[in-house]
Amino acid sequence: MSESVFKFYPLEPTRGFLPGESDAIISALRDANGSSIAADTIQLHYHAGIQFVDCGSALERIRCPLCGDSIPNDQWQSAMDADFHTSTGFALTTAVPCSCGRDIPLHGLRYDAHCGFSRSWVSVVVHSHFWLGWLLQYPWIGHVEAQV
Ligand SMILES: [Zn+2]
Repeated sequence: MSESVFKFYPLEPTRGFLPGESDAIISALRDANGSSIAADTIQLHYHAGIQFVDCGSALERIRCPLCGDSIPNDQWQSAMDADFHTSTGFALTTAVPCSCGRDIPLHGLRYDAHCGFSRSWVSVVVHSHFWLGWLLQYPWIGHVEAQV
């Protein structure tokens, strides 16, 4: 049976979880889903610098939020490489030039499926088709879903 990993993270990339927020998410996951989620599939990830919260193979297209054109993968990858430093993570100061003539910051692009940037996230592995969208009641939380 295939599984999905959901990653919940603060939408503001530099914010990180405030004290108690990640605990609240983990508690809510356990309370709402009971035995359907094994405790060892819930993990809290913390990094000193901003990381790419990716959706793995679910990422099919990256688009400009202004004109909708696709951003070529090699152009996006070059910007990602230029912006990332091993010790400090992403600076999020690099922009990707679009065919419409505008420069779009990496965290301002439209990722399909959704991806994000954050210093911390809670991941949970569930059986496919198990929906955790109720966690999006928190307006500051973004989420990514990837197949594993
Ligand atoms: Zn554009």
